[in-house]
Amino acid sequence: VEMERARAKMPGHYSGSFAPFTAGDLMEYTLMSTPWHILGAGSLGTLWATRLARAGAPVRLILRNEARLADYRAGQGLTLVEQGVEQTYPVVGETPDSPEPIHRLLVACKAYDAQSAIAQLHHRLAPDAELILLQNGLGSQDAVAAQVPLARCIYASSTEGAFREGDWRVVFAGHGYTWLGDAGHPTPPLWLDDLQAAGIPHDWASDILTRLWRKLALNCAINPLTVLYQCRNGGLQAHACEVATLCAELAELLECCGQPAAAQDLHSEVQRVIQATAANYSSMHQDVANHRRTEISYLLGYACQAAARHQLVLPHLQQLQARLVEYLRARGLASD
Ligand code: NAP
Repeated sequence: VEMERARAKMPGHYSGSFAPFTAGDLMEYTLMSTPWHILGAGSLGTLWATRLARAGAPVRLILRNEARLADYRAGQGLTLVEQGVEQTYPVVGETPDSPEPIHRLLVACKAYDAQSAIAQLHHRLAPDAELILLQNGLGSQDAVAAQVPLARCIYASSTEGAFREGDWRVVFAGHGYTWLGDAGHPTPPLWLDDLQAAGIPHDWASDILTRLWRKLALNCAINPLTVLYQCRNGGLQAHACEVATLCAELAELLECCGQPAAAQDLHSEVQRVIQATAANYSSMHQDVANHRRTEISYLLGYACQAAARHQLVLPHLQQLQARLVEYLRARGLASD
C-alpha cells in the first residue's frame, strides 16, 4: 500500500509500468517520502524548495499567517529564475497552524526571526524531528537548539547566493556550496541523498563550527566597514591598515574561543575576498541601502559578546560595533 501511495505521489519517478521495486527504489521512496517543511519563503527558502520540488521530493512551505497563505495561493507557486530562465513550481503552502507533524524542517528565515518562528511550530515537531538551520552568523543556532532539546539540529553554512525579485519570485544569483554539520553527532543524515537528487551542492562537515566562525570573522572584517564607508568590497583596499588591525583582533578572538583553525591566515583570506569580490556590495551594505534590518547581533555583536565573555579587550572591534550601531540608529534602522 505504501508503495502504491509512493507511485501515486511521485509521478515523475514511478509513472508507467508496475515493475517490481528494488531495494534502491525502496530507499529512494523512504528518503523522498518524508516531507521537507520549509520555514520562510524568502531567498534561500525558495531556492531550496524549488530545487527539492523539481526533484520530486514532497515540499511544504510554511508561511507566516493566513493572509500570506491567501496571497501565495492566489498565484501559481514559487518561481525560480536561473540564468534568465524562469520556472514556477506549485509547492504546497500552509501556515504554522496546519496539523501535520513535522519530521524535517529547513529553517530559512533571518537569524533574528528564528526563535520566534520555531516557537510557533514547537507543538508540531515529531519526536524524531530534524532541523536544518541556514542562518548566517552565530548565536541563533544555539538558541534554537536550546528551544528544541529533543530535536536534532543541523547547522549549515552556505555560499550560495539568491535574492527576491518580488513575493514568491527568487533569482539564483550565485552558485556556491552548503556545508552541513552537527557538532554533537558526527553521523550524516540519510536525507543528504535528497539534496544530491535535487542538485544542491553540499558536503557533510565535521568542523561546521569552525566554518561558521571563519565566515563570521570574514564578515566582521569586511561588511561593517563597507557600510560605514558606503563602498563596494573593493573600496576597502583604501583602508588596508584598518582591515589588518581588525583581522589581528578577530584572530585573537578565534584563538581564545577555541577556534585556532578558523584563525589561520585570516588576514590573507580577507584580502583575497576583498579582491575577488571588489565589484560587489556586501550583504550588510545591501540591507542598509534597502532600509532592511541587518543581522548585526549575530555577526559583529556576537563577536563582541564573545570577547567580553573571555574578558578580552579588542578595542578596534568594539569601536567598530559602536560606530555601526550609531550609524544604523542615525538612519532609523534597528541596531540589534
Ligand atoms: P529573506 O529573503 O529575508 O527570507 C526570510 C523569509 O523568512 C521571509 O520570506 C520571511 O517572511 C520569512 N519568515 C520570517 N519569520 C517567519 C515566520 N515566523 N513564519 C514564516 N516565515 C517567516 O532571507 P534570506 O536572504 O533567504 O536569508 C535567510 C538566512 O540565510 C539569513 O540568515 C541569511 O543571512 C542567510 N543567507 C542568505 C543568503 C542569500 O543569498 N540570500 C546566502 C547565505 C546565507 P516574509 O516574506 O513574510 O517577510
